[in-house]
Amino acid sequence: MTRRTQLELARDLDKVLFSAEQIAARVRELGEQVAQDYADRPPLLVGILCGCFPFLADLVRSIDLPLRVDFMGLSSYGDDTASSGVVRTTKDLERSIEGEHVLVVEDIVDTGLTMRYLLDNLRTRRPASLEVCALLHKPGPQALPVRYVGFPCPDAFVVGYGLDYAGRYRNLPMIGSLRSHAR
Ligand code: 5GP
Repeated sequence: MTRRTQLELARDLDKVLFSAEQIAARVRELGEQVAQDYADRPPLLVGILCGCFPFLADLVRSIDLPLRVDFMGLSSYGDDTASSGVVRTTKDLERSIEGEHVLVVEDIVDTGLTMRYLLDNLRTRRPASLEVCALLHKPGPQALPVRYVGFPCPDAFVVGYGLDYAGRYRNLPMIGSLRSHAR
């Protein structure tokens, strides 16, 4: 991305919440933690499309283990910034996860609705273990077991580093809240 595009996109941000440097440092720490915890049982990382892609790409390169990766597509929001309450599977895993040590990699857990649906679904496939790694976790009533959290996230609609609004901003290297004029 050119500096010009980056500036153009960043103009729509109200506030930068996490800079590219902060994200890189935290993702490295998460990777090291995961590598320690899974040293004797190489994990299968399941990335949730589409928002996970920059996070997952950086995370796997920080995990010094012979891991594997698969993807699931879930959709809980349309072009709106409020939860629709409806979760739809748009792409399923390529392989069985029976007996696998599954680590779900998600960009953000907000209401927890999407993750609850996903965990219920994956549990029926009998993995050996099932944990969640979310880059951002919003405060809320959800009582979901998120084992690894990058950053607690303020209760705002955020974009960048994989997170979109109506398909845009995923290529911003930082994460920020979106100005109301940009919605
Ligand atoms: P939940 O079901 O936990 O409410 O929402 C999960 C999904 O909603 C996330 O995977 C993400 O796609 C979307 N989402 C929730 N909060 C935000 C936000 O602040 N910004 C963006 N871009 N997406 C969000």
